[in-house]
Amino acid sequence: MSDRQRAANTSWESLIGLAWSSFVNGGYGVAATITDTDNKQIADGTNSCATQVSPTDTLSGTPLAHAEMNALLAAGDLTRDARMLVTLSPCAMCLGAAGVARLSSVRYLAHDPGSDTLLSGPTYAGRATDISQASEGRWLTPLAEFLPLVRSILRHGAARSATAAAYSQRNPTMLQLAVEVAKARDLKRTLGNTAADAYQFLRDAGVTPTSPA
Ligand SMILES: [Zn+2]
Repeated sequence: MSDRQRAANTSWESLIGLAWSSFVNGGYGVAATITDTDNKQIADGTNSCATQVSPTDTLSGTPLAHAEMNALLAAGDLTRDARMLVTLSPCAMCLGAAGVARLSSVRYLAHDPGSDTLLSGPTYAGRATDISQASEGRWLTPLAEFLPLVRSILRHGAARSATAAAYSQRNPTMLQLAVEVAKARDLKRTLGNTAADAYQFLRDAGVTPTSPA
């Protein structure tokens, strides 16, 4: 493994760690980070649609508080060439915002079957934002999509969750496991104390990541 690959893997592992801590604190478990071209971190964010991260966060507690939006808000005015890593594929809103912020690229770990709208990156003011699934950190993909699926079931119920409906078509094995975990309620007792424990739980259960449509 080259130094560059190792650095990329470390970035994804720490991003999943951030997603995990937001999940166990009641969030959806999606995390995004914005870095410059030297991989230096500028800002990060987690989904706070269901949680209040800080009293000054105007997006928190609203459906707009996706991890990417929170990271972009935290980054402020991006004058440097910047890119984003995010644990789940961005929705149309976040991809649009990444274009407006003139990010050069967005890389994501897991494919979100509830948000299949993205096919290509946006172009804003003559600059295109490149969007693609990361080639590094792929072993973390099942965990990256499992956390928001469980939270969606806990929040809306399996029958009313649009995410669960997408999974019933695209990855019923993962959905079944998520329903069981959501029923158990004590998430840490079921999944373990750390993202690594939860990763191992999914691995033992034999779930596979959802493929793009
Ligand atoms: Zn979004």
